[in-house]
Amino acid sequence: MADTLILALLFFVVLLFLYYASGDVNDNESDNKEFEIDDLALHEKYKIKFSGRLSAKASQNLERVLSLLPEKVLTSAESLNIDRHFERYQPDNIGQCSYRDRKIDIHPNYIMYALIHEFAHARTFKVICDDIMANKMIEAAYKIFCEKISPPKRKSFLEEWMEIAGQVYIGEEYASVYPFKLFFPLNGCLTPRSKSNGLEDIAEFVNEVYCVAYDLPDAKIKRKIIAGKCRKSPVYVKKLNLLYQNGFFSEYVYKKVIGYFDAQPRASFLLLTIKLQI
Ligand SMILES: [Zn+2]
Repeated sequence: MADTLILALLFFVVLLFLYYASGDVNDNESDNKEFEIDDLALHEKYKIKFSGRLSAKASQNLERVLSLLPEKVLTSAESLNIDRHFERYQPDNIGQCSYRDRKIDIHPNYIMYALIHEFAHARTFKVICDDIMANKMIEAAYKIFCEKISPPKRKSFLEEWMEIAGQVYIGEEYASVYPFKLFFPLNGCLTPRSKSNGLEDIAEFVNEVYCVAYDLPDAKIKRKIIAGKCRKSPVYVKKLNLLYQNGFFSEYVYKKVIGYFDAQPRASFLLLTIKLQI
């Protein structure tokens, strides 16, 4: 009896193995089969270096996302690596962008959800570098031409952002377990992740703006939530304006989303009315 049971169990295990093995074969034949990325063609089109592997589906998503980003944002990244096995700064990263060389790594399954976030990091790092360079050049020019006058204090993009945002950040480890997702937008932050720090807040903000402007996943829900809460505080529109001034999105995107963020949408309407009356 025991022998029969063991045989039946073995038979079951073999069947299970065959089932999963055949599944793998089917997967290889499906859309999920990955190909070496066509780095030359993509470089020609988007002006950044590409590497990694892509399935047909991931390739479609990549082209869709890249086509939405202006050149200033695209070229803020030095390179883009798409690979499910990239070397991660943190074990659970699905995407990342290094501050030092502005290299983006992303898992192919998360292109639609995380690539704009990573490009926003790249743009932020580029703007920070440009700010540092500009300040150095102004200092050097003042030293040469106006020896006794110190250069005027110029606020960097990040300083301006932190001034608008205020003291709302709670650190990455707390933000990742923030329990009240439904309460967002909150305190000028659009998502729980935004509460981590200024850099995450910027990246999340930019990602949400693109989602709303271009109907990316969950855009309808996001539009409703953002419009309902963001008009109540001037912080959101100030953040939107600052990002727009620093090249995070085009005028087209800005005009498409401003109505969801503007705390005083009637102000422009009032101006238009006055103009018409004159
Ligand atoms: Zn991030």
